[in-house]
Amino acid sequence: MVEKRIDELIKIIDKANHDYYTLDNPTITDQEYDRYMEELLRLENEYPNYKRSDSPTQRVGSEVISEFKKVTHEIPMLSLGDIFNEDEIYEFDERIRKTIPNPKYVAELKIDGLSVSLLYKNGLLVRAATRGDGTFGEDITHNAKTIKDIPLKINKPIDIEVRGEIYMSKASFNKLNENGANFANPRNAAAGSVRQLDSKVAKSRNLSNFIYHLPDPEDYGIRTHFDALNFMKELGFVINPNNRKLNNINELISYIDYWTKNRSSLPYEIDGIVIKVNDIDDQQKLGYTARTPKWAIAYKFPAEEVLTKVRDIIFTVGRTGQVTPSAILEPVRVMGSLISKATLHNEDYVVDKDIRVGDVVAIKKAGDVIPEVVKSLPERREVPLKKFEMIKNCPICGSVLVRKESESAYYCLNEHCPAKKQEKLIHYTSRHAMNIEGFGDRIIEDFYNLGFLTDYEDFYKLGHHKEDLMELEGYGQKSVNKLLEEIENSKNLSLERLLFGLSIRHVGRKTADILARNFKNIDNLMNASLEDIASIKDIGMTIAKSVNKFFSDEKNIELISKLKDFGVNMYYLKDVSEEETLFTDKTFVLTGSLDRFTRDLAKEKIESLGGIVTSSVSKKTDVVVAGLEAGSKLTKAKDLGITIWDEEEFINNLSKY
Ligand code: NAD
Repeated sequence: MVEKRIDELIKIIDKANHDYYTLDNPTITDQEYDRYMEELLRLENEYPNYKRSDSPTQRVGSEVISEFKKVTHEIPMLSLGDIFNEDEIYEFDERIRKTIPNPKYVAELKIDGLSVSLLYKNGLLVRAATRGDGTFGEDITHNAKTIKDIPLKINKPIDIEVRGEIYMSKASFNKLNENGANFANPRNAAAGSVRQLDSKVAKSRNLSNFIYHLPDPEDYGIRTHFDALNFMKELGFVINPNNRKLNNINELISYIDYWTKNRSSLPYEIDGIVIKVNDIDDQQKLGYTARTPKWAIAYKFPAEEVLTKVRDIIFTVGRTGQVTPSAILEPVRVMGSLISKATLHNEDYVVDKDIRVGDVVAIKKAGDVIPEVVKSLPERREVPLKKFEMIKNCPICGSVLVRKESESAYYCLNEHCPAKKQEKLIHYTSRHAMNIEGFGDRIIEDFYNLGFLTDYEDFYKLGHHKEDLMELEGYGQKSVNKLLEEIENSKNLSLERLLFGLSIRHVGRKTADILARNFKNIDNLMNASLEDIASIKDIGMTIAKSVNKFFSDEKNIELISKLKDFGVNMYYLKDVSEEETLFTDKTFVLTGSLDRFTRDLAKEKIESLGGIVTSSVSKKTDVVVAGLEAGSKLTKAKDLGITIWDEEEFINNLSKY
């Protein structure tokens, strides 16, 4: 199985390498390529027995087959290892620290072009070569001479080899394609241009160059990479002005953040940041693998859109009865998380974009949260695929679906559709509603099917079924007690959570909050007229009508009365946190053990004062509350310069409100 997959991956990568490096005509995206490479590296690591000596992980680029003269690189031209997220930056730093306790780094923009080696004798350019397979490259001197950034003569009559990137600016690329060329991106355009026999073509393409590497710095008495960059600048090479010497990982993360946000302002494309250990002695101590230096790494920017394949299209029924098609995908990483499902919104969306099972599709995270399918790539279909057809009946209860006028959505109108009811119950327990922890989709489904849970009030009757619940497979005394405790705690929450939890049409979190704040308790809201509700700022007529309708329904009036009897709070309790507190809108991480709080209690306190509690430390964290024996989260927080409170300071700050 594994061996077969390795063979398969090698075949795919070899073909991609040939298309990309030899033909300058990629047939898959860089993200797909990186994914295959990552999978191959992982499998070779886990199953070293199956590692093949001809694996693309063991070499750079692709074989050179061209009409150009072959040149030999005395010092191989290597590639760079890839990393894709912040955790991997920390891991890289940790790996370096095992050999170099206090490393200093240089960070550089990763220019998206192709690497070139330039050889000077007596200060005159005598040879320019592509990287090729790292050992053998192609002689492109005739074309390099047409590039204005590459000096034909440098400022000292010395022998020297330097390396850098030939690239095409965005402006030149756009002009080229406007004039009829059809290159996929500036990188391919640059590669295609330097690999032309006629230098007039290369000249007309208006290429540029940055130099970033001196292979033998010691020969010139140079001890750091940064000094090497300056030295090459003095010789007359173009060095990127954004290279920075950085003292620690915090500075590195800020540099990466800055360029992640600002890279579109550059006149050329970059696809990441290269991190290099500055000290040449340190570099030598760290050494090389067959493909890459161990003292440098490329952080690749997350792709906003990633390609993957649709395995299936399924339909889910939401709380409102809306039936939504979703694509089941071959799992793929988008902006740091593994995605295997994405929304297709509705019938029109799928039909307009002609998305079919088996298609290669581009997906992205909409608003950075819910993944959606952006487009399909029909040109990548290898066999005819069946056109999408919307289902006619509810996938759960079988009733005929209805498409509402002026909406593209289909609805299941059956009030008793189990899917709708279960979705509502799931929503009722959700974090921003009644926050009853422990009720996953599966438990709700089980309890629903057993008849223990068919409406909201049933949560508060679950205690009567305690014995029955404990009989069920997978539910011990402890877990049942915990569920009951969570339900009991939820009774004390502020009104807006209940309003949000009741799945009233058009009442989202924000609206629930506005209603609760204005009416203060549920009776006021239930007694309010349509006009009273609509007169509130930010509440439109549609919402007002929906709220009014909900509370005019006898069944709902009865429900509220039952919830009251069970002791569910019906008052708005949030006035305290209305004022800005030290906690408002701040993100907290709890780590280590606190003496006077359970995790849950500490979380509740923070949330009641307007804070948000998350589980992992990142640059978005505002405060880490560190108890005893706090481990790696505390270390990371210190590295990132995040505010840290011990338990005493936490209590002090809580007591201010
Ligand atoms: P790479 O592009 O990931 O990184 C190494 C290269 O970065 C160096 O060789 C150099 O040319 C360049 N670079 C730019 N700025 C630099 C700087 N400041 N310092 C040092 N180097 C800098 O590695 P690679 O081996 O050139 O190519 C592999 C990548 O190419 C893949 O990760 C993929 O993105 C792409 N690729 C795509 C396909 C495809 O089919 N789409 C096929 C092969 C390769």
